[in-house]
Amino acid sequence: MTVQCCKCKKVHEEGEWTENPPAKGAHVTHTYCPVCAEACYMELFSEQASRTTWKTAQIVSQLMDSLDRSA
Ligand SMILES: [Zn+2]
Repeated sequence: MTVQCCKCKKVHEEGEWTENPPAKGAHVTHTYCPVCAEACYMELFSEQASRTTWKTAQIVSQLMDSLDRSA
């Protein structure tokens, strides 16, 4: 299975994020690479900073869980 960042389109390959496009016909699953995950986290955090809710904490925690599983 090929793991691709849905934001910058990098592909997770042999422990590294590369710019190689996924192989043709490969089953691609989308996630965030560490760089985009952090950017997304910061975005979420700054959007919600003035009204941080339990819901936000859940979203971030789910995002981090999905990154752990794809590592
Ligand atoms: Zn990315």
